[in-house]
Amino acid sequence: MIPYGRQEIDDADVAAVIEVLRSDWLTTGPKVEQFERDIAHYVGAKHAVAVSSGTAALHAAMYALGITSGDEVIVSSMTFAASANCIVFQEGLPVFADVDPDTLLIDPERVEEKIGPRTKAIVAVDYAGHPCDYDTLGVLAGKYRLKLVADACHSLGAALRSRPVGSLADMSVFSFHPVKHITTGEGGMVTTDDAVFAQRMRRFRNHGIATDHRERQSRGEWFYEMVDLGYNYRITDFQCALGMSQLHKLNEWIDRRQRIAGRYSGAFEDLPGIRPLAVRPQVSHAYHLFVIRVDAKDAGITRDQLFRTLREQGIGANVHYIPVHLHPFYRSRFNTGAGLCPVAEHAYREILSLPVFPGMTDEDVETVIEAVKKAVSS
Ligand SMILES: *Cc1c(COP(=O)(O)O)cnc(C)c1O
Repeated sequence: MIPYGRQEIDDADVAAVIEVLRSDWLTTGPKVEQFERDIAHYVGAKHAVAVSSGTAALHAAMYALGITSGDEVIVSSMTFAASANCIVFQEGLPVFADVDPDTLLIDPERVEEKIGPRTKAIVAVDYAGHPCDYDTLGVLAGKYRLKLVADACHSLGAALRSRPVGSLADMSVFSFHPVKHITTGEGGMVTTDDAVFAQRMRRFRNHGIATDHRERQSRGEWFYEMVDLGYNYRITDFQCALGMSQLHKLNEWIDRRQRIAGRYSGAFEDLPGIRPLAVRPQVSHAYHLFVIRVDAKDAGITRDQLFRTLREQGIGANVHYIPVHLHPFYRSRFNTGAGLCPVAEHAYREILSLPVFPGMTDEDVETVIEAVKKAVSS
């Protein structure tokens, strides 16, 4: 089976984790701070706050913004449910905005239509690894005094006009789940230039307590106070050691993902009914996903038929995503449903993610290409 994504773990990664397991700090220790510094440096942000998952990172970002009951947050519908769930965790109202038909990224025009007196923020999702149009979204955020959050779980290592993702919004959220660009098993991070946001998120990941265990130990103090309601969203030191070791390989891995994507794009150029998503100029794409659209009329095969044909041959094609507003939870709780985001809904019937991960061999890539070509021509 060629999966759609897979982690790479080498001996250096294993050694980094073992070293921490033999040290004094398993959690909330020096590796957490070092990993935060490394990621902040990599993306060009002043602060980074590490937490236990990308979902926890999204929740922490919504908390830092002060999202609360009655607040509206505009979010892309073409994403993993967590991008919207984080708004609901804080009792906010997710307002789904439709996407651009060529890139499936949140469409700034659709965003502006949804801005109202209760709108507080925008969650833009760098779908598949393509950075959103942060220039236009930034102008909108400024004009209406909104905060801009990048769900950058697909786009670590991507850039827009040579500016790295992680420094393009008020806060940027990353995931270190094994299918993402680098992994800590489970883990997440928020990057920001805002010291107040960073401080709030550090408190939030530790039950809302004002200081952490290591700070108190270094000052020889026992006293602590819980100043707000928080969670245990801490990440361990051995996870952060793994993340730091993985980060050394990120650029090489992005390069490999881009090469695989280039090979796919070239191979499908003349294939009727098979169309990769568009890439805007001056974008360095991180290719968390390689997404094609299957136009059944021209391809002579539906997306579902192609999915099954590939799976039968051990090729782990996948569908990302069911538009979030179509999930039963959102339909019943927020009265969303078909017709709310027609571009995303139409795309959903056509999209298919093909395998792309750094460990994929050239042979694997050719196997996928030949299987798609054969399925379309038969
Ligand atoms: C993976 C992902 C998340 C959630 O990250 P976890 O680490 O799995 O909690 C959120 N948003 C998007 C777009 C993702 O792809």
